[in-house]
Amino acid sequence: MAYYIIRPGEHAVEDAAGTSLAVCEVFADAVQGEGVYAGCPAVFLRLSGCHLGCKWCDTMDIWNKSCRLSVDRLVGIFKDGGIVSRLDKGHHLVVTGGAPMLQQDALTEFLVSLNNVCRNRPFVEMENECTIPVHPGNSELWGLVDSWNNSPKLSHSGVPDAKRYNPEAIGQMSLAREAWFKFVVGGEDDWAEIEDGFIVPGYVRRSQVLLMPEGQTRSQLSPEKKQAVLEMAVRHDVRYAGRLQIDVYDNRKGV
Ligand code: SF4
Repeated sequence: MAYYIIRPGEHAVEDAAGTSLAVCEVFADAVQGEGVYAGCPAVFLRLSGCHLGCKWCDTMDIWNKSCRLSVDRLVGIFKDGGIVSRLDKGHHLVVTGGAPMLQQDALTEFLVSLNNVCRNRPFVEMENECTIPVHPGNSELWGLVDSWNNSPKLSHSGVPDAKRYNPEAIGQMSLAREAWFKFVVGGEDDWAEIEDGFIVPGYVRRSQVLLMPEGQTRSQLSPEKKQAVLEMAVRHDVRYAGRLQIDVYDNRKGV
């Protein structure tokens, strides 16, 4: 099981001197379960807050469990808690949410400070619902993130189009040094939405697309469902993405 350094709701203390982040949880000795880096040992920094509200959201703690920590304090926790040494050994740092881009300026400051205490610059993956562009004053963030793991939401998320679909953010992200677009697929009809809304207008290249079956438990991710999405991916010349953490641990948190 993962090693928690901040559990959801554990830190009632607020330490927000200077720039701060709303943090939900931090855990290490875990594994990236999704996307092209599935299988990599990872540290997860989960930030609180989201502006969407997908009907199948499985990270409920981000709505009501948050501690506000200054950048200095969070870097100190990473250092003293042995997180920096794990990053130095090559564990990825996965910044997730919630919607991390709601806190993009503070994140930049945090990643710069973290680099200053690491021997080797950590490999940073940013999970991104892809509705908020990097703003022009925050261009430093591009150089701090190694992989943008974008996951734009489709209509089956139940989120209104105007909130979940932002061509400006999508198009900007597709030009990043490394950017992937992972779509949670509920059924056959989803492909038309991906193709018409993302690939045909040229916002996303086909080679950046991954299809991942929808499901939060092992029983929901049935072999038949996985097979259907895998075959859909091959048929449309894109990648299939599994959910390693569910295959191995079912719906246990913090793994
Ligand atoms: S974008 Fe992610 S965190 Fe936000 S509601 Fe959807 S699934 Fe939950």
